[in-house]
Amino acid sequence: MTFDSLGLSEKLLAAISKAKYDSPYPIQLEAIPAILQKKDLLGIAPTGSGKTASYVLPILQMLLEKEVPQNRNIPVLVIVPTRELAAQVQEVVKVFSEFLPRRIKTMAVFGGVSINPQMMNLHGTEILVATPGRLLDLVARNSIQLDKLQILVLDEADKVLNLGFKLEVDEILSRLPKKRQNILFSATMEESVEELINRLLHNPVKIEI
Ligand code: AMP
Repeated sequence: MTFDSLGLSEKLLAAISKAKYDSPYPIQLEAIPAILQKKDLLGIAPTGSGKTASYVLPILQMLLEKEVPQNRNIPVLVIVPTRELAAQVQEVVKVFSEFLPRRIKTMAVFGGVSINPQMMNLHGTEILVATPGRLLDLVARNSIQLDKLQILVLDEADKVLNLGFKLEVDEILSRLPKKRQNILFSATMEESVEELINRLLHNPVKIEI
């Protein structure tokens, strides 16, 4: 199998080729077409499975078909448990954006560093990668708005919950518009994750790696 048959644009294929991804990993084979079809997705997949590219690639493609936001309404939110994962996801977005016809503004925000530079820089962001606590701080300060969100990704959901972010996740979910696409990845299927899946996902495509 190659990446050519998954419905991705030439510009993305060029970046995939430059990254030396010769053929799609199993999760990418299944997730990319499903996300492009705007379906909800449940991926039970550990780190190393190629899960990041499996959602970053179709999301970039879908964003190119939409208008650039001229405000602080974020169209795509990726919630991650840690600063390290936030930086990794942002890097993957950067790698695959290289040949796109326009810039897709992506920001990573996380706690443990000063909030002010993050606040100043969010206008026009299309993909926001965020840890839960810092995200809520930014919402409280009106630095971003979530009520026009189109795609929510919850990456490493089990870790997000195990780090004690359940209340933050609940608060974030309560601020999102009802009509949106939801994508959730977790390495494990413990009870708390299952509960979240049941609340979050509608008829999801399920992929287990
Ligand atoms: P992830 O599970 O998203 O953290 O990805 C694990 C590692 O696999 C990363 O270093 C990726 O760059 C790499 N990777 C992901 N997909 C592919 C692919 N189709 N071919 C080669 N390497 C890949």
